[in-house]
Amino acid sequence: MTRIIERPEVFLIGQPSLEWSEIRRYLNKVGERTDSDAISWADRVQNDSLVSDGDALVEFGGRLCYRSWIPGANANVTKVRENSREYLGNILKSGHGSVAEHANYSFIFDDVSRVFTHEMVRHRAGVAVSQESMRFVRLTDIPFWFPKWARNDNELMLRSFTLLVQMEDHQIWMSDHFGLDDEGINFSEKKHKTSFMRRFAPDGVATGMLCTINVRSIRHIVYMRTSLGAEEEIRLVMDDVSNLAMKATPNLMQDYSPNENQEWIPEFLKI
Ligand SMILES: Cc1cc2nc3c(=O)[nH]c(=O)nc-3n(C[C@H](O)[C@H](O)[C@H](O)COP(=O)(O)OP(=O)(O)OC[C@H]3O[C@@H](n4cnc5c(N)ncnc54)[C@H](O)[C@@H]3O)c2cc1C
Repeated sequence: MTRIIERPEVFLIGQPSLEWSEIRRYLNKVGERTDSDAISWADRVQNDSLVSDGDALVEFGGRLCYRSWIPGANANVTKVRENSREYLGNILKSGHGSVAEHANYSFIFDDVSRVFTHEMVRHRAGVAVSQESMRFVRLTDIPFWFPKWARNDNELMLRSFTLLVQMEDHQIWMSDHFGLDDEGINFSEKKHKTSFMRRFAPDGVATGMLCTINVRSIRHIVYMRTSLGAEEEIRLVMDDVSNLAMKATPNLMQDYSPNENQEWIPEFLKI
């Protein structure tokens, strides 16, 4: 029976978690070498509830470049920014975005269509993708998401349901016809026929993928894909990603906010 998707859903299943004892061990070494209190950076940042480990990792990477955890660790540095939000704000402002590639976030995009996955995989830079295989995973129904405006159109819904039911029936007929559940049928035969069968599924069929994305790319993707010109499903999903990212890495998303059209716009576009 056709499963109607209420709404595609996003799960944030992974994000940076720092090994603070190792960071301290390293900063202690830096402090000994430079006769400075480098370790005090860890004391300040770890105890700041407004700084996530993702933020802290990027800040750490940035400060490593100039040895600027505290004044004195680099003889050229006599003054440093002592607030993470300010420090990371300056990274964004000055466009030194490569450090933002250290922080990666893993999202499951569930009950999204192949329209969504097609568009998502166009983002190559800073994105790792694992996508549900419709060559291996046999369709037993055609789960489908309808936007709200479509649900309000009775004739459209009736016609669409009729088509979906027909396509589901065809999937079930084909799996019987090919004997995919028969005793002894080997997996490569199942795979061969399952791949053929997916050709009769619409682009709107619901599926899922895992994407691990670094913050530099998250910033780019949510800007591009929440714009009014973007497709409605990816806009919806990326709005969820924006909200999750705002919580997970508040200081690296500090210049983003949604406008009245729910487009997420940054102050600093290219970092
Ligand atoms: C509203 C909208 C409509 C679209 N319509 C179409 C369409 O009709 N047809 C179509 O084919 N696509 C379309 N796309 C997809 C679009 O062209 C991009 O492929 C997609 O948005 C990925 O973005 P990106 O190129 O910024 O790549 P990402 O992989 O997200 O890369 C991020 C940034 O890294 C840099 N970068 C990445 N790869 C390279 C590289 N190889 N060389 C140099 N710099 C690189 C660029 O600065 C790039 O902006 C559309 C996208 C949107 C948002």
